[in-house]
Amino acid sequence: MSFTSEVKEQLLRINTSKRCCREAEFLAFLRMSGNISLSGGRDGQPGILAATSNAALARRYFKLVKELWQLRAEILMRDSQHFKKSRIYTLRIPPQAEVRQILARLGQIPDGNPWALNHSFEPAGRGVGEVFRGECCQRAYLRGAFLGNGFVSDPKRSYHLEIVCQDIYQAHFLLALAAVYQLNFKLSERKGHFLVYCKDSTQISDFLNVIGAHGALLQLENVKIMKDTSNNVNRVINCDTANTDKTIDAAQRQVQAIKRLAAAGGLVGLSKALQETAALRLENPELSLLELARLFDKPISKAGLYHRLQKLEQLAEE
Ligand SMILES: [Zn+2]
Repeated sequence: MSFTSEVKEQLLRINTSKRCCREAEFLAFLRMSGNISLSGGRDGQPGILAATSNAALARRYFKLVKELWQLRAEILMRDSQHFKKSRIYTLRIPPQAEVRQILARLGQIPDGNPWALNHSFEPAGRGVGEVFRGECCQRAYLRGAFLGNGFVSDPKRSYHLEIVCQDIYQAHFLLALAAVYQLNFKLSERKGHFLVYCKDSTQISDFLNVIGAHGALLQLENVKIMKDTSNNVNRVINCDTANTDKTIDAAQRQVQAIKRLAAAGGLVGLSKALQETAALRLENPELSLLELARLFDKPISKAGLYHRLQKLEQLAEE
């Protein structure tokens, strides 16, 4: 299952009984995926068509319009023309008088003309604070928007979250709403659609928290920790490589010194300990101090060995 599907599945499990939030979520879905149809021209009754490829989503809002408003509604199913395997589920609310009242209640009929809806879908130019009664509804709206047309990439691959909007007003509204939660989402246009998106892992995390996808949030955080850890491991490996280089340089210097000392006959008069050190170093030029120290008959510390090697280098200088 894709990460997007997982997030949506988690969101679909959120069932609030609060009417305000259910309305807000439905409004978001409507603005993401819906269209208003009018029977008999401009003066006719408005109806609603909202399409999605997610059957559970269509059922969720079918149930909602039945429970909240007792509207006549149905779900139509057809195969997608674009993707052979996917189906499109359309929630159809046939034209009926109550729809106009509901759209007005949702702030969707600025001048009593639902026709304007398909062109602007703007909640009558009102700000975020005026549209929602409470923070609960703001979150519900963001949740509905993501359910309707949201996408989030698998954090193991990349950090990318986007919500595809039908029009620029909806996009600006989402940006403003996200900003309420200190989410600095960006806007771009693609093939006539408006994308509200984010590529920052922390902000994606915050967004998942705001909409209530806590399971997905934990998954993302785990991936982040794993990625950070593997970055640190890489850093340690690089650091070790640098140390290894230093070790090799030092060992070569020591070997050269011992060879010079031997050539000048300087090894003969040395203590047994120094002679042993010189011999072991010559035989094992590639070993680090710690590894070399283990080769001694009598145990010797790394520091002790270092001092002996320094002494040899010093003698070679002299
Ligand atoms: Zn609410």
